Amino acid sequence: MAEVKYHDVSISLLKANDAISDDLIKRFNEHGTFTINLLSSPGSGKTMFLEKVLDYFDKERVCVFVGDLETERDAERIRKHGVHSFQIITGGTCHLEAIMIKQSLPLMPSDPDFLFIENVGNLVCPASYRLGEHLRIAMLSTPEGDDKILKYPKAFLTADALIINKSDLLPHLPFDIDKVREEAEKVRPDIEIFVTSALKGEGVETVARFIQEKREESVKTRTASN
Ligand code: MG
Ligand code: ZN
Repeated sequence: MAEVKYHDVSISLLKANDAISDDLIKRFNEHGTFTINLLSSPGSGKTMFLEKVLDYFDKERVCVFVGDLETERDAERIRKHGVHSFQIITGGTCHLEAIMIKQSLPLMPSDPDFLFIENVGNLVCPASYRLGEHLRIAMLSTPEGDDKILKYPKAFLTADALIINKSDLLPHLPFDIDKVREEAEKVRPDIEIFVTSALKGEGVETVARFIQEKREESVKTRTASN
């Protein structure tokens, strides 16, 4: 046998998380808050992407929660842009859980239109923990290599959208962007794919419009079903 497979996270733990996530979604829906869970490896550019994308939003109507093992650094970076931003320090836990979002809700200014959650940099367990999000975006940056989709399929198959970031480095790297697109669509046929350079601000506005459209769709669906 060439490989051994096993499950590393217990089912009951994930069920408990799912129940809290469902409660969170209900609460967010009642208050008109559209929630985005952004996940990637460390160093893919999540924080810089948020710093850039938030320019296309009404900053007063946005809140950001940033998950990290330690330090307030990323929340501070985002706060400098005039956005309500709060750090969730996991103290060693390598992913965010729905309970952490629930406990952080009192920090949130009243009922923002958008709540962005920057997950802890990690492509493995964040994929298993729903955080009450309406939209899950996975980010992959070009220096990480073009082989990551099939290595970390769960992160991408649970994602509604894929952002390929650091496109400015493409001329310098052996990164096959078509292969990444193909593999992403193999694991998740309806995935939306965006190519960005957060550093240069390229492709970022398109993602902002996509997120805003998704919120409008979600509000419409709910009004129609009421
Ligand atoms: Mg960060
Ligand atoms: Zn973890």
